[in-house]
Amino acid sequence: MTLEDDAREYHRRDPPGKVEIATTKPTNTQRDLSLAYSPGVAAPCRDIAESEALAYDYTAKGNLVGVVSNGSAVLGLGDIGAQASKPVMEGKGVLFKRFADIDVFDVELDIDDPEAFVRTVAAMEPTFGGINLEDIAAPDCFEVESALRDELSIPVFHDDQHGTAIISGAALLNAVDIVGKDLSELTVTFAGAGAAATATARFYVSLGIPRENITMCDVDGILSASRADAGELSEYAEPFARGVDDGDLADAIEGADVFVGLSVGGIVSQEMVRSMADDPVVFAMANPEPEIAYEDAKDARDDTVVVATGRSDDPNQVNNVLGFPFIFRGALDARATEINEEMKRAAAEALAELARQDVPDAVVKAYGDQPLRFGPDYLIPKPLDQRVLYEVTPAVARAAMDSGAARRELDLDAYREELEA
Ligand code: NAP
Ligand code: MG
Repeated sequence: MTLEDDAREYHRRDPPGKVEIATTKPTNTQRDLSLAYSPGVAAPCRDIAESEALAYDYTAKGNLVGVVSNGSAVLGLGDIGAQASKPVMEGKGVLFKRFADIDVFDVELDIDDPEAFVRTVAAMEPTFGGINLEDIAAPDCFEVESALRDELSIPVFHDDQHGTAIISGAALLNAVDIVGKDLSELTVTFAGAGAAATATARFYVSLGIPRENITMCDVDGILSASRADAGELSEYAEPFARGVDDGDLADAIEGADVFVGLSVGGIVSQEMVRSMADDPVVFAMANPEPEIAYEDAKDARDDTVVVATGRSDDPNQVNNVLGFPFIFRGALDARATEINEEMKRAAAEALAELARQDVPDAVVKAYGDQPLRFGPDYLIPKPLDQRVLYEVTPAVARAAMDSGAARRELDLDAYREELEA
């Protein structure tokens, strides 16, 4: 059977799909039912009407994330629409549950207009503890996320932008250390100026890379202030075009310390990698085919080339599942009003730190006994490493408390033990 046939069978097997709702309270007696629903349910309703925060005590809100999409930019599939995106959104729910025991309602909205989309999601705030926006095309995704962040007092997070930024940011912190360079002196070239690339570039600035050291390219070459379409660049891309000379991707890569690909497969040659600075870092993250294959980048030159891709068959897979389950877990448990820069940075730093620790045998076994030891081929932890839950999650919760986003103070030692149990 091919993977495709297997996948059809997996999804079709009775019951269809991948998720169901389960009840968490007894429902065996007449009395149970009159507690669960009418007339007993009136008591918690009245309490919440008096004090909205009690929704976290009386309902599943605090462990429920809405995975919301209009299916306009689905990984590898493009604009397939809301209905066709449902298997992806159910799948995202599976990952939230599997990695952080968070429940998800997948919400596929047949809405193209960003304003209508925002209104609709905003109206769902009472249901959810957080909103994970998913697979919404640029540039609408920027406007939608920013409006919802302003309007809602629960976390709103567009994973396609920030997930990649955070996970590759963790890899970058370690890569830079391995090659003995300093963040504040790095020059970084991006291929791609879309949702993932602009969010990643902004995040790298918040990690300490000077904005003026970043050059960004789209399909037409370097984004520069003098380019004919400079006035049409998105407000997220425009800051990276300031003070930059025209040129193509090859010009932009020459001499760079770091290449970050969030564009399309196969556009970087070994020649281009050879033109980079000493011991270069190459994060070729286009999916499913990277900008340059892992082996080709490694083999391009004799000094150290630190390579990461989006592929599970390569050593350093930049995989969003290392981020969103734990970021939301920490945000929900701290009842954070948002997922802010401090919380994202805390997640990246905790991931980077964890990769420096010895890896338990069980994790090594789960990944086919490849040696997992901190170095160029092990920059970030593996998704099936249980420790990610209890190292990254409390770090996010702590950052929520320190930055004033938390509405609940957690005892972090006790919290960590709870997660570990
Ligand atoms: P997007 O918003 O559509 O952006 C794609 C960008 O790539 C656009 O700026 C586009 O330029 C640019 N581009 C296209 N062809 C190019 C070329 N030949 N040279 C330079 N730039 C080129 O898409 P996205 O959501 O940001 O995703 C971009 C890529 O990153 C995809 O391959 C996606 O699979 C990958 N990705 C990987 C991860 C991961 O590994 N964890 C996570 C997220 C995304 P124009 O605007 O001029 O067309
Ligand atoms: Mg996605």
